[in-house]
Amino acid sequence: MKDKKTIAYKNERIKKIAFNLRKLLTKAVMREWMRLSDVKDEKGKTQSDRTKIENERSDLYRALHASICICPGCHQIKRDMMYNAYLEEWYCTCCVQEYRDFYLKKKAVLDKGGFVGDFSVEFHESFL
Ligand SMILES: [Zn+2]
Repeated sequence: MKDKKTIAYKNERIKKIAFNLRKLLTKAVMREWMRLSDVKDEKGKTQSDRTKIENERSDLYRALHASICICPGCHQIKRDMMYNAYLEEWYCTCCVQEYRDFYLKKKAVLDKGGFVGDFSVEFHESFL
């Protein structure tokens, strides 16, 4: 896949269908995620069973956040999305711009030898 592929719908009808499909898929995944939580807490489950179910829940959650259905930065589903090949995730174009702006601001401080606190250069550079 292209390094920075963007999905932006110009046709309003197609956009509405795509966003509704994202919403439907997100709801279905979250419903299964919650169902697995109930299954995990059922009587008679061994620690091994619980660990296996929890791993399945984690896989589901990770898959949803890597998909184009939801932005892992802001959890919006109704925005244009851009693929980040380094992170192997889709982010909305608003978050991409925020991460880019944040990077430029923090990098300028770093370049002057300043302290920027909790800041991942690799993460933020992947949005440039
Ligand atoms: Zn976002």
